[in-house]
Amino acid sequence: RNTLRLDKALTHLGYGSRSDIKKYVKQGLITVNGVRAKDSGMHVDPETDVILLDGERIHYREHIYVMLHKPPGVVSATEDNRDRTVLDLLAPEYLAFEPFPVGRLDKDTEGLLLLTNDGKLAHELLSPRRHVPKTYMALVLGEVGEADVERFAEGVTLDDGYVTQPGELVVLGHDRQGEEVVSRIELTIHEGKFHQVKRMFQSVGKKVVYLKRIRMGRLDLDPSLQLGEYRELTEDELALLT
Ligand code: URA
Repeated sequence: RNTLRLDKALTHLGYGSRSDIKKYVKQGLITVNGVRAKDSGMHVDPETDVILLDGERIHYREHIYVMLHKPPGVVSATEDNRDRTVLDLLAPEYLAFEPFPVGRLDKDTEGLLLLTNDGKLAHELLSPRRHVPKTYMALVLGEVGEADVERFAEGVTLDDGYVTQPGELVVLGHDRQGEEVVSRIELTIHEGKFHQVKRMFQSVGKKVVYLKRIRMGRLDLDPSLQLGEYRELTEDELALLT
């Protein structure tokens, strides 16, 4: 058995402070394996003991994996002096796990952002050696065409001289906005340099005006999540990442 204090387990899961848990015990709201808990310091194995709080089964887990549809205007950091962060979007029961974003999206970029407290998984997903592919949908000023597809497939030279890995560029279509042509594209890259997508287009003389990440590894952004909405990954989705 791998035991810890009842109040510690429930606090970790975001069910309140130690004194809140003590109060629940006093009120007789907590049972462990069918027996009313008498002491919030009692030891439990939260993986195997059946713990009910006010009749509801406590679902214990050490790690949390959240898929967020990041809205523009928030930064991918755990704290910031000026801007709201992606953590400000999460409810307290998620914050209790102390999640952090896996990698970064620019402040103005939208789309799939994972938040977890699983440092090992985050490290693996971000490891330059693993080359986890990331797919973006973008709107680009100007007519993106076959020449750009070929240049991206060879790797392009960024403003600091860095030559990127090959990227797979797919032109989805072109829209006309007055005088201007705007191209809708999808780009898959296998690394994550600072502002990489924007700088790859800059290197071919074009400007990204909208950017959204839609896939990371084999994990797709859930299209039913609105901007700013989030949910925990399913077990199947988690398996796609590992
Ligand atoms: N590339 C960018 O330029 N910005 C992002 O946020 C992600 C990839």
